[in-house]
Amino acid sequence: MPQTPTPLSFERAPLNWPAVIMFVLTTVPAVTIFPWYLITVGFDTFEVISFVLLLGATGLSITAGYHRLWAHRAYEAHPLMKIPLMLFGAMALQNSILIWASMHRVHHKHVDDEDQDPYSAKRGLWFSHMGWMLRDYPSSALDFKNARDLKEDPIVMFQHRHYLALALGMNFGLPALLGWINGDLWGSLLLAGVMRLVISQHVTFFINSLAHYWGRQPYTDANSARDNDLLALVTYGEGYHNYHHLFQWDYRNGIRWWHFDPTKWLIAASSWVGLTRNLKRVPNFVVQRALLQRQFEVARERISHSAGETDPRLARLHGLLEQEWQHFSHTLAEWTQLQTERFDAAKQQLADQWENSDMRKRLRALEITLRQQNARVRLLHLQAA
Ligand SMILES: [Zn+2]
Ligand SMILES: [Zn+2]
Repeated sequence: MPQTPTPLSFERAPLNWPAVIMFVLTTVPAVTIFPWYLITVGFDTFEVISFVLLLGATGLSITAGYHRLWAHRAYEAHPLMKIPLMLFGAMALQNSILIWASMHRVHHKHVDDEDQDPYSAKRGLWFSHMGWMLRDYPSSALDFKNARDLKEDPIVMFQHRHYLALALGMNFGLPALLGWINGDLWGSLLLAGVMRLVISQHVTFFINSLAHYWGRQPYTDANSARDNDLLALVTYGEGYHNYHHLFQWDYRNGIRWWHFDPTKWLIAASSWVGLTRNLKRVPNFVVQRALLQRQFEVARERISHSAGETDPRLARLHGLLEQEWQHFSHTLAEWTQLQTERFDAAKQQLADQWENSDMRKRLRALEITLRQQNARVRLLHLQAA
């Protein structure tokens, strides 16, 4: 009987001992010594406040620094912003910026691919959460060809060269210093050191695991990424992962004002004082277009699924959907025309105040058209359900 070859990804890979030891040394005290200390000694206000501040600084350095600044170049930052992001990023103990960002770029490029995505959700929840780090899988092989820009960033390379010293200094040195100031060395090492590290790591790991399993897919179902408001609450705004996988260079993940995205707020607030600049945003029209395209896909699927040729109600819905599609194509053509006009006006420097505002008005009208159409198409597939 012919044997099916084992896929590369499922071969038994050797254990990644440094990672295994690191997880054992942090997880075991977190579930044994920490609760014992909490019950017998307890923690004071100073320790709780330093824990909360360091947890936030560590988490935001991964989301705003490692992820949106370095992996995606969604904005630019002043060295005064980059240095703390680099230091507190090292405190998250998730490898150097160079390694993290290079792997994350591979994740986006090959998302869900079992052999190439380093934390492919298709290989299971545990694998995408932390299983991928515990063994030396071929999918985690490093290749910095996709991070040439980062190799030219002196702050990134300084951290990469001195990663171990920085990571140890931030994880032991800083909590020990705070403990010494407060007169309770062990309390600080346990709460601001160990517990803070364990929580901040799992929060980031949730983005690779849960954010690819649990939630809605309003923009695309071409990959497993999901939007999840609850997850956004604990991941500093990274729960809008379906949007992020489609528009990875946007500095925002939660794009509406009511979306909980403290990483976006930090980046935007820092731009007011000159610490960040060139914040990249996907134009509203393009976002609306993606949402509507997805609505069309869902509507088509529902109507054709239940389409009995003889059912006049479904035939009518089908007709209406085709009309909406033509209307959509027409709006897209108008938008393309407007883009050409804007480009020409900018090139010839002929755009005076009136033309600009006229173009803005036309763009706004097109955005409203898409939003209204979105509501109508949604209604169509609800009727077909
Ligand atoms: Zn992802
Ligand atoms: Zn990303």
